[in-house]
Amino acid sequence: MHPDIPYHLENYVGGYFIAPLSSRFIDNVNPATGAVYGQVPDSGEADVELAVTEAEKAFPAWSASSPEKRFAILNRIADLIDQYLPALAAAESNDNGKPLWLSTEVDIPRASSNFRFFATGIMHFASESHNQEGHSVNFTLRQPIGIVGCISPWNLPLYLFTWKIAPALAAGNCVIAKPSEVTPVTAFLLGKICKEAGLPDGVLNILHGTGPSCGEAIVRHPRIKAISFTGSTRAGAHIASVAAPMFKKLSLELGGKNPTIIFADADWDKMMSTVIRSSFSNQGQICLCGSRILIEESIYVQFKFEFVERVRQIRIGDPLDPGSRQGAIVSQLHFDKIMGCIALAREEGGRILCGGNAYKPEGRCANGYFIEPTVIENLGPQCQTNREEIFGPVVTLQPFRSAEEAIELANATDYGLAASIWTQDISRANQLAQKIQSGIVWINCWLQRDLRTPFGGVKNSGVGREGGWEALRFFTEPKNVCIQYA
Ligand code: NAD
Repeated sequence: MHPDIPYHLENYVGGYFIAPLSSRFIDNVNPATGAVYGQVPDSGEADVELAVTEAEKAFPAWSASSPEKRFAILNRIADLIDQYLPALAAAESNDNGKPLWLSTEVDIPRASSNFRFFATGIMHFASESHNQEGHSVNFTLRQPIGIVGCISPWNLPLYLFTWKIAPALAAGNCVIAKPSEVTPVTAFLLGKICKEAGLPDGVLNILHGTGPSCGEAIVRHPRIKAISFTGSTRAGAHIASVAAPMFKKLSLELGGKNPTIIFADADWDKMMSTVIRSSFSNQGQICLCGSRILIEESIYVQFKFEFVERVRQIRIGDPLDPGSRQGAIVSQLHFDKIMGCIALAREEGGRILCGGNAYKPEGRCANGYFIEPTVIENLGPQCQTNREEIFGPVVTLQPFRSAEEAIELANATDYGLAASIWTQDISRANQLAQKIQSGIVWINCWLQRDLRTPFGGVKNSGVGREGGWEALRFFTEPKNVCIQYA
């Protein structure tokens, strides 16, 4: 793979790199500089139709291939991702604005782990059988679905793109995948890697373009039988309304408004450094970030002063500078949305304890989209700031008096993705874990990921689970076969 990225990105269809059929492109902007630095295919229905045709040609051989063969190819993809790590990490940071150390240590290694994990997973995947003593035996065949669609967001571009593609391919499907139009470059490079790794042509097709044009065409295509989507709750609701009447299999990983619950007996130092990370990692643009910090009243003031002091020390700046802990917000559009949310918090009566402003670095990044890490207090559970996802470097603080009140506050949103609880009292933590409405609960930790665990949300945070066997089950169709004993 040549590390240079062409100015005009191309779609990867049937093993070829091609321009969109309309020849239309959209600008790709480096959010740290504000400069257009490439063009992204503006694909639509015709491109999706072509990709589906190519995927259908590839499906019979790929779906019939042995797990050993799929294992070998997916492992090779993982090895190549590792080999090209520096180029991929640089591409991710230029595209997304995240610090280079973060792409290097987290995003790209996780992309290769995703392939390696599902490469081995398919070697161990098995199904159930049900014996009716003396009558019959039933067994469940788990077959690939066919052509499936994978649509992913901009916050963890290659990390989440591969989290869907790897299990879909491992299970024997052919894939039409669309990364976010805001961060397309590492997905483009993944096409090059798959080609080099010997993935047969047409098994994976990568289309670039906007949600309403390319994404919508994937969701509406009658021969794409399942959709795995990660993104906003708004887009997820729309996709569900289109896909449900077509009876497509759907996995929706959507927004969050996650609580971080801190009791007075928490391990202070560990809690403090982890809560800084859980609040502001990736500029707060991780669906699992804790954006509502709930603090036991007796330590509220102490927590507030130390937390704010430490947040003020977070160094913002050029994502390519190893000293920057926080980089740029992904786009002008998202920057404006977050600044609008901060303005609304002020109108709602929020007190800004630190941050609240755009940040202007000197030099190369003077026109980039940077926002100071922001901490807000004095807002109740009913205000919009505490109910709606902001998805940026903004957190609120709220005090609670009892475990019951903490649960009430934690559950006071329409979202239910992840929660973290800080206490040394493990029985209390367990009780809370059972009552909190979310798909994931971390006790005395955050973002501790084991790829075997079910990953996903409840309420408006989504439907279905990714990860481990859940993902391989999603990407296969179960068929019961009953054999009567002679
Ligand atoms: P988004 O919904 O705007 O876009 C996500 C993807 O969907 C993009 O590829 C986009 O082009 C596409 N899309 C948009 N509208 C579409 C449509 N009508 N039909 C088909 N595709 C469409 O989300 P975003 O702004 O890229 O990402 C941020 C959101 O993603 C946040 O809400 C965040 O919480 C969520 N997210 C959730 C998880 C999770 O695992 N639950 C993980 C990461 C991000």
